[in-house]
Amino acid sequence: MQPAGTIPPQDWMTAPATRAVLDALTADGQTVMFVGGCVRDALIGRPVGDIDIATPDPPETVTALLQRAGLKAVPTGIEHGTVTAVSGHRPFEITTLREDVETYGRHARVAFTDDWTADAARRDFTMNAMFCAPDGTVYDPFGGWDDLVAGRVRFVGKAEDRVQEDYLRLLRFFRFYARYGRGAPDADALRAAERHASQLTTLAAERIHHELLKFLEAANPGPAARVIHDHGILQPVLPEARHAERLRALAAVERELGVIIDPLRRMAAWLDLREAHRLGARLRLSNKQDRHLRQLAAPAETVRADMAPRDLRRPLHRLGRDLVRDLYLLAAAERSAAGERLDAAALAAGLREIEAWQPKRLPVDGGDVKALGVPPGPRIKQLLDALDAWWVDRDFQPGRAACLAELRRRVAAEHPGG
Ligand code: ATP
Ligand code: MG
Repeated sequence: MQPAGTIPPQDWMTAPATRAVLDALTADGQTVMFVGGCVRDALIGRPVGDIDIATPDPPETVTALLQRAGLKAVPTGIEHGTVTAVSGHRPFEITTLREDVETYGRHARVAFTDDWTADAARRDFTMNAMFCAPDGTVYDPFGGWDDLVAGRVRFVGKAEDRVQEDYLRLLRFFRFYARYGRGAPDADALRAAERHASQLTTLAAERIHHELLKFLEAANPGPAARVIHDHGILQPVLPEARHAERLRALAAVERELGVIIDPLRRMAAWLDLREAHRLGARLRLSNKQDRHLRQLAAPAETVRADMAPRDLRRPLHRLGRDLVRDLYLLAAAERSAAGERLDAAALAAGLREIEAWQPKRLPVDGGDVKALGVPPGPRIKQLLDALDAWWVDRDFQPGRAACLAELRRRVAAEHPGG
């Protein structure tokens, strides 16, 4: 491999935790390199997340070298040749170079190798198939650097073949297109994705779930979602994903208001939730994620994007901050997608109210109701709920004495003379 250039020194490369892993892996003179996402992101100045390292040493040797240096080695994917080193409380994925010996569908037979180019060749996109030596020298066997700079997400080799080896790559294509793409998507990739979309049904739901959430984490997944929709890519597995425009609008609202991206909220914007059935099971959502989406689909309180901050307090009290935040942003996205111009200052004021919300508790409880002579039973809760509604209507102002007086009045009204 010929060097393609260099990356100037970066914190993540020179950090003591990283150095410790590199020193351990090269102690006997082996050559190792950074690979994949960290190289790609460093080259365009985006924050580097996980650090992946490639080495020609087999996993047993990697484990021994790490342990000799006093680092923890976890066999996270030993059959694929991956060992996770833990250094400075951070994980580093160390993978032995591999080459595809034979592929049939998802079942690729891989063998360990010491051939760097062969390892790059079995990776998905040119921009994911670059290496970087610890001194910053970049190796780019398939022109990924140019593609990255030009916003071209392109398969290594023929898109048609690469998609058939692993149908998940068809979704990965849209994830990377959403994150790094500019202009129209690569025509070969799009054609292959369209042709093989029906094969998505053969993938494990967990893999689809993971990939879709990653896709939704892109700064602006809207344009890619539009392409997905126009080409029927998700029709076989997620036909309810049809609101690309609402997803685009949500991303814009989040950016405008400086809200942290949440992939589940974006899922709610993208999908027609009322039409979705058994989504939790189909996408292997956690119970918590599933419940959240159901509550967003049919909230017990109305939240509108044009509500005055004060009017948000009732839903906040009933539904809690997380649900109201999502309902509010989704309502704003809905209106924006419908072509309405939003009042950014008013929206921001509502959001401030939501973020500052502290849960409030009615200052009387069941014990107070009993003390007034109401016998144990469902009536106690009914009285408390009604009193709570009265209290909310007065914007949580009445204190304990006023609430007790109101409670007494209500109980007395039920038992005149009692
Ligand atoms: P991210 O920043 O989202 O983690 P990444 O590039 O690190 O991006 P991963 O899914 O963590 O993406 O995969 C790490 C690397 O492994 C990729 O850059 C790519 O080289 C390779 N890879 C992962 N999945 C596949 C796949 N299904 N087919 C081919 N290569 C893959
Ligand atoms: Mg990664």
